[in-house]
Amino acid sequence: MSAEASIVRRAVCPGSFDPVTNGHLDIIGRAASLYDEVVVAVLINKSKSSLFTVDERIEMLGEVLAVYPNVRIDSFYGLLVDYCRTNDIPVIVKGLRAISDFEYELQMAQMNRGLAGVDTLFMPTNPEYSFLASSLVKEIATYGGDVSTLLPPTILERLHERLGR
Ligand code: ADP
Repeated sequence: MSAEASIVRRAVCPGSFDPVTNGHLDIIGRAASLYDEVVVAVLINKSKSSLFTVDERIEMLGEVLAVYPNVRIDSFYGLLVDYCRTNDIPVIVKGLRAISDFEYELQMAQMNRGLAGVDTLFMPTNPEYSFLASSLVKEIATYGGDVSTLLPPTILERLHERLGR
């Protein structure tokens, strides 16, 4: 085996995943076909209120991502580039929904490359999910709207349970 063949191409898909949506799954699934190993990293953000705890979000991600043998779930606190450095991950994969995502994401990507040499790969979202965000799903579901096409069935069930529906 050549030295090149033994290099593990590893990437991280970071986010809050509160809860995981079909938009996230689209990006993670596509990343899993491009990299040897994909780490889905749940950001621990104590200043942001969430509907599900970090452990619950990790459990839900584990359920819906079990079909991918090269995807694992983890959590991180602090700077993403520090997490990348510690775990030997050279690439961040981000889904882009619209131009509005791009401006902020470009700034972050340039900062992360400048800070630690970590590159970012932008993946255009499937147009079917370009409007989809966890925050919107929670808001619609809170008022009884139908979000069944936006989440995997097990996640939908957990969301309804949490909202007392
Ligand atoms: P949100 O609350 O907006 O869903 P997250 O922090 O959970 O945000 O999202 C994590 C990452 O997942 C985002 O930075 C983005 O790269 C990707 N993502 C989120 N929603 C979508 C979507 N609908 N299509 C493609 N990528 C998405």
